[in-house]
Amino acid sequence: MSGDRVDLCFGVGGAKAIVLAPLTGADEAAAAAPDHLLRRLALTGERLVHGEELAQMTIGDRDRAIAALFRQLYGDVVQADAVCAGCAATYEIRFSLAALTAGRVPDGTASGDPAAITLGDTRLRLPQMRDFTGAPDDLIARLVLTGPDPDPQAAEHALEGADPALELDLTGTCPECDTVQATPFSMAGFLQASMQRDRAFLAREVHLIASAYHWSLAEIHSLTRHDRQTYARLLIAEREAGAVQIRRAS
Ligand SMILES: [Zn+2]
Repeated sequence: MSGDRVDLCFGVGGAKAIVLAPLTGADEAAAAAPDHLLRRLALTGERLVHGEELAQMTIGDRDRAIAALFRQLYGDVVQADAVCAGCAATYEIRFSLAALTAGRVPDGTASGDPAAITLGDTRLRLPQMRDFTGAPDDLIARLVLTGPDPDPQAAEHALEGADPALELDLTGTCPECDTVQATPFSMAGFLQASMQRDRAFLAREVHLIASAYHWSLAEIHSLTRHDRQTYARLLIAEREAGAVQIRRAS
């Protein structure tokens, strides 16, 4: 099966890429949480990160993989709503995911396996997804490989530069009152919200296809999202054409 290849900056144990299978309805019905989706979609293969290893990805690598998944499903443009703190107007923030990721690349200070940075006398590995389960309070202390515990703020700053996550404040200007404000954006949160909104469409598309072809739910769920949406569009077009013919005939 072919899929989208995502090159990782750090990888896991020498494997530096993920290949994502095309999303099916079964994937959409089973998981909206981005990490669960990555786990379902990441194909096994030589030098590919998959399965349990995904939890060992750095935060930045994980966000780059989620950005690639977002692009596979929705394209490159992100449209987010912001509510103005000054006048409560709702306006749209639009940006290119490619431009965002291009502006948030690792600064080159991390090296080794696991990838680590040097801060004074301390060697500190980059945080991985699995570091965020359990007690996140002592996160920095748990990242120390050798040397004394570093200043937490300096460590956070250095780690962020070494492996930027796609989690940031987007600056927007209200078109009504010119108030400038920051709107928090999280790649993982945004993909999850987008997929949750799509749940209603999944049910509708399954209904349309089942009504026309009498395939089982499992068969329809095994279609890729792209194929399912294509069938649904054809059925809608056919219905609309049928409705026009009925009107013309009467
Ligand atoms: Zn405003």
